[in-house]
Amino acid sequence: MANILIVEDNALNIKLFCDLLAAHGHKPEAVSDSRNALATAREFKPDLVITDIQLPHVSGLDLIRMIRKDTELASVPIMAVTAYSAVGDEERIRAAGAQAYVSKPISVVKFAQTVDDLLAKGSDTDPTGQARASWANESNGAPGPTDAGGEES
Ligand code: MN
Repeated sequence: MANILIVEDNALNIKLFCDLLAAHGHKPEAVSDSRNALATAREFKPDLVITDIQLPHVSGLDLIRMIRKDTELASVPIMAVTAYSAVGDEERIRAAGAQAYVSKPISVVKFAQTVDDLLAKGSDTDPTGQARASWANESNGAPGPTDAGGEES
């Protein structure tokens, strides 16, 4: 069981994601106002963050960058979910520091698989197996988040 923080402004998607994650035995927590996401994350200590990109106030891209700069949260894997995939979006999302990218409307199977992969691998690698060294340079040599979810049982 993993703590999974969902940042999403659409109530139907919140319900869908929470139901899906709970059905897989996880503990979801949702934030609909991205201005509260960082504070909630520090309290909830998620093993994974799932964030919408199109968010009012603080955009998903900005939130991803803020998490990567946060001393407590920097190593938490992030999965972005977005309805509009223009050319270059995936690159921008990954460059901001997300490990995975799922487009809406989500495929339930892909969503669940990506969650499982990220929980298993942590933020060192993404589900496609590509090294995510670009933002992780500072943590080279430091212990990785290999224990993500490992202390929950
Ligand atoms: Mn949205």
